[in-house]
Amino acid sequence: MYVSGDEALEEWRETVNTLIEAEMGIDYFRDRYRNREYPHELYDELSDRGWLGATIPEEYGGEGRTQLEQVILLEALGTYGYDFGIPVVTSTTVAENIIEFGTETQRERFVPKLLDGELRFSVGVTEPETGSDAASLQTEAVRDGDRYLVTGEKTYQSGAHAPDTLISAYVRTDSEAPKREGISALLIPNDADGVETNELSLIARKSVGTARIRFDEASVPVENRIGDGGEGWRILSDHLIREHVGLAALMVGNARTALERAADEAASRERFGSPIGHYQAISHRLADMRTEVDAARLLVYRAASALDNGEQSRRLAAEAKLKAGEVLQSVTRDGMQILGGESLYSESDMGRYWREGASSTIAGGTSEIQRSVIARDLLSGRGSGDGNK
Ligand SMILES: Cc1cc2nc3c(=O)[nH]c(=O)nc-3n(C[C@H](O)[C@H](O)[C@H](O)COP(=O)(O)OP(=O)(O)OC[C@H]3O[C@@H](n4cnc5c(N)ncnc54)[C@H](O)[C@@H]3O)c2cc1C
Repeated sequence: MYVSGDEALEEWRETVNTLIEAEMGIDYFRDRYRNREYPHELYDELSDRGWLGATIPEEYGGEGRTQLEQVILLEALGTYGYDFGIPVVTSTTVAENIIEFGTETQRERFVPKLLDGELRFSVGVTEPETGSDAASLQTEAVRDGDRYLVTGEKTYQSGAHAPDTLISAYVRTDSEAPKREGISALLIPNDADGVETNELSLIARKSVGTARIRFDEASVPVENRIGDGGEGWRILSDHLIREHVGLAALMVGNARTALERAADEAASRERFGSPIGHYQAISHRLADMRTEVDAARLLVYRAASALDNGEQSRRLAAEAKLKAGEVLQSVTRDGMQILGGESLYSESDMGRYWREGASSTIAGGTSEIQRSVIARDLLSGRGSGDGNK
């Protein structure tokens, strides 16, 4: 399962790393972040190379690659900040939903445009009053002939304000049904009448950005619904497995960079006549960082391999997301300690990774919720649950 030694995968890793490290280069990422600019050039480059469709089956114009290959791509995209790969994760996973649950017409209508870089997808789950309790979402879609009128509010929507974005919004289409059975998935253009997006000023996700979206009787054709009415929760559950693995891969990519940077500094910075890496307080800290990063990485590869073997495991995805999120935070915090005062300059890369990492245990589902998923799986066979309804 671990990819080192597999020639084809290592070649793929080298190819994708070359784009990020040599062709785009760290200054590109620094500038997008500093200026709060969406990484359009990166996205266009990925589209030109066909990598937006890495996992999309060849019959729909993609490359038909495995989820393991996708996590290698995402690790590279996370190299200089896990923010930058977010539109790839959201767009690819929504396209996969369309392929799995949508109609042939929807596949022909949306997937080629994604691959050509003409549109992208964001994911609309979180609402101000429900947060982690996603199944209680209140945004309402009322059927009116061959359209829905959508009213409500979503928040913290990554990249939802970017041009040519369709929001894959989870909305309540049946208020009488039990909460998980009354949800549907609608594709809503972010510039449709009745849709207002406002960018948020968070300390994280500063390049791709996040937005609050207000729907005021936004008119959405029924043909934009993915799957049947009431099938939204099933689609979302499937989506979240791949989204968690993708996010975790981005986080591991950035955690590896933080580790390498800290190791370089420990080897070269001299204090009291020796490199600081010679002092056990520092070298053991580095050893722990390395072990944690490897552990997170292996969990990501395990979850991706399970997907490639047809296993849709929420637990494996939750373990990968939990570990990668917490490791990104701990490794960047330790990295700052090793770099000392210079890590506190507002332009410091390590400081940026740490600030971005602050969102890694919240965005895409909090660590507490991942723990609940993992514990529920462990306890369910024993006649117990975790108390979440
Ligand atoms: C940078 C960023 C990007 C994001 N991007 C998107 C996006 O693209 N699309 C989208 O839909 N959402 C997105 N989100 C939203 C994210 O998924 C939510 O923030 C997250 O699910 C938590 O919701 P909340 O912030 O309302 O916190 P709350 O749900 O209010 O949680 C507050 C605290 O209570 C804890 N808690 C809540 N319920 C339980 C429980 N049952 N057991 C134990 N602890 C519990 C939480 O773990 C947390 O610690 C993003 C968030 C951020 C910060």
